[in-house]
Amino acid sequence: MRASKNSVLTLETPIEFVKGIGSERAKLIKNVLGISVVEDFLNFYPIRYLDKSKIFTVSTLQESNIEVQLKGRITSVQEIQTGKIKRLSAKFNDHTGTMDLVWFQYSKWLKEQLPVNKEVFIFGKINAFNNQFSMPHPEIEAEESKETDARLKPIYPSSEKLSKRGLNQKFFQNILKKICKEIPNLIQENLPEYMIRHYQFLSRQHTFLNIHFPKDQQHFDKADNRLKFEESFFFQLGFGLKKAHHKAKSHGNPFPIVGDYFTGFYENHLPFELTNAQKRVLKEIRFDMKKPIQMNRLLQGDVGSGKTMVALLTMLIALDNGFQSCLMAPTEILAQQHYNGIKDLLKDTNIKVNILTGSVKASARKIIHEELENGELTILVGTHAVLEDKVKFKNLGLAIIDEQHRFGVAQRAKLWAKNRIPPHILVMTATPIPRTLAMSFYSDLDVSIIDEMPIGRKPIITAHRREKDRTYVYNFCHEEIRKGRQIYFVYPLIEESETLDYKNLMEGLENVMENFSNYDVTMLHGKMKPDEKDAAMNYFASGQSQIMVATTVIEVGVNVPNASVMVIESSERFGLSQLHQLRGRVGRGGEQSYCILMTSDKLSSDSRTRIKTMTETNDGFKISEVDMQLRGPGDILGTQQSGVVDFKRLDLVNDSAIIKNTKNMVEKILKADPLLSRPEHQIIKNYYLQYYKGKNKWSKIS
Ligand code: ADP
Ligand code: MG
Repeated sequence: MRASKNSVLTLETPIEFVKGIGSERAKLIKNVLGISVVEDFLNFYPIRYLDKSKIFTVSTLQESNIEVQLKGRITSVQEIQTGKIKRLSAKFNDHTGTMDLVWFQYSKWLKEQLPVNKEVFIFGKINAFNNQFSMPHPEIEAEESKETDARLKPIYPSSEKLSKRGLNQKFFQNILKKICKEIPNLIQENLPEYMIRHYQFLSRQHTFLNIHFPKDQQHFDKADNRLKFEESFFFQLGFGLKKAHHKAKSHGNPFPIVGDYFTGFYENHLPFELTNAQKRVLKEIRFDMKKPIQMNRLLQGDVGSGKTMVALLTMLIALDNGFQSCLMAPTEILAQQHYNGIKDLLKDTNIKVNILTGSVKASARKIIHEELENGELTILVGTHAVLEDKVKFKNLGLAIIDEQHRFGVAQRAKLWAKNRIPPHILVMTATPIPRTLAMSFYSDLDVSIIDEMPIGRKPIITAHRREKDRTYVYNFCHEEIRKGRQIYFVYPLIEESETLDYKNLMEGLENVMENFSNYDVTMLHGKMKPDEKDAAMNYFASGQSQIMVATTVIEVGVNVPNASVMVIESSERFGLSQLHQLRGRVGRGGEQSYCILMTSDKLSSDSRTRIKTMTETNDGFKISEVDMQLRGPGDILGTQQSGVVDFKRLDLVNDSAIIKNTKNMVEKILKADPLLSRPEHQIIKNYYLQYYKGKNKWSKIS
């Protein structure tokens, strides 16, 4: 049977059959707001509420630009013409004083209908001008028709387009009121009884009623809290189920042996004692790889925390079990550095390492291909060149990806396909992301964190300097060079204005060369060819040059332990994580290192927060928290992935307690009842299957 105008509303009723909407408006609402059935309206949350419980008086108004309600009378109405522009003005008096009400756009109808000399409530935002308050476009309600029930009035997200066609706040309020009145008993629970009791949640019914028409602040808070919990809970549940599914299905090569390669290296060639964090992380990895299930682990550790050694030791375990490994880096420079470092560490062993990048010559490439296929070459370092189809392994058992955020998902998938049984995957990133974000976004990966720096590392001293301090900064750099250290000067490179940035860089270079004329200055920027970049980098790294002037191409991973000063020019133009990455280029040796943040005199409040954060802490996790507060989670993950954490109510910055709670709850539930087969879990299973399955954007991240 077709639903008709007179039938009873259900959650599935198309909105055109809700009285007062009709098919024209329904189309508009659907197009603009994506609402097509009654249930969608329930999830169409107010963006804020007007508090109509308070009544202000004219004489006590103080603050401008706030919404207030007053009670009094309109005493006169008058049309005022200035030039071509007409406005309507009314005097409002509440016994304590008089205030102007103003309309810049109004109909004849309004002019004639203003209730003069009747008790009314007026509501709106006030403006102050010359100590006189006025209220443009007030809402006016006659005392006798004032609603007494809902004291917090919902304001819905709307648009000019909708308002112009009569779909204004009043319209939405009426529709929602009607829906909330007619269908509350159709709103079904989606959480088990025990959870509702445990968290003292409102029922789901009351949750929706109080989200749209809160009884009071306290009821709103409870409703809000439950909706956030639900959102986080079902999101986590999705990931939990996916992870369990993956573990049950995806075979991996078990690496049960820790043998001579690992132990021999650990006992004879390890150049330093591992930090406790490195040891812990290594244990987590070993535990994973022992199982016949593919490892998917994210290794987070701040710049300089020693991830490379963990990577190498992991590769040695693979080798002990008869498998090849590859380590992939996002740039040629980085791959080269990893290769040099690893080759050096393994020089007294018989382990064969090689490097494969775009610039490896065809003849050498051919040999690498052969040795990978016959198994002679056991550790391959490279750029995405290793992903090419021509590159075949005899038995790739482990793939490590450094600086994960530079690689796309498709590229990772290619690695999986390099072996019949997919290799274990270890993804390393030096861009710590806030824990709440990691918990949501990476919930399908296991996460290991190195949260400790090697001992003896001196924290980098960071200072904020302005143009007027430049001479002082240069003098300081001269002193450091005289002590035998090296200096970086970094200039911003922002794509939209590449030409301009290039000009800045060139001017900067000239300036530096002038002021450091007795030293050798190297330049590095993105327009150089890979071999030019390498040559410049090697020249600086070998100590022949004392100063490197560069754009952010040096951001990732570059390791020159003797460099002790990082001067970041126009640092207000950099984001926090980028500043932190750049700073991590120094402080890599035993010497005290410095980061100098040069800025102009005028700073926006966000820039000021960024600079202040940098001068106050070296902790990448703390920095990432501030970064998320400033930019929001979507921007931190990058636009391509931001949809994954598009929550309607949950706020990754402020709701960490809820996220933690739900994560624990989900883990507990799935551990005890992995298939959600217990009777008390049918409710979440059904709800999940109906509303979430297929909607989680997993495909984007694994
Ligand atoms: P990142 O985590 O940024 O990749 P690296 O692996 O490049 O850091 O390590 C930074 C530096 O710290 C390297 O020079 C490395 O040899 C050194 N290092 C790593 N672990 C330790 C340790 N446990 N003790 C002392 N130095 C260490
Ligand atoms: Mg590194």
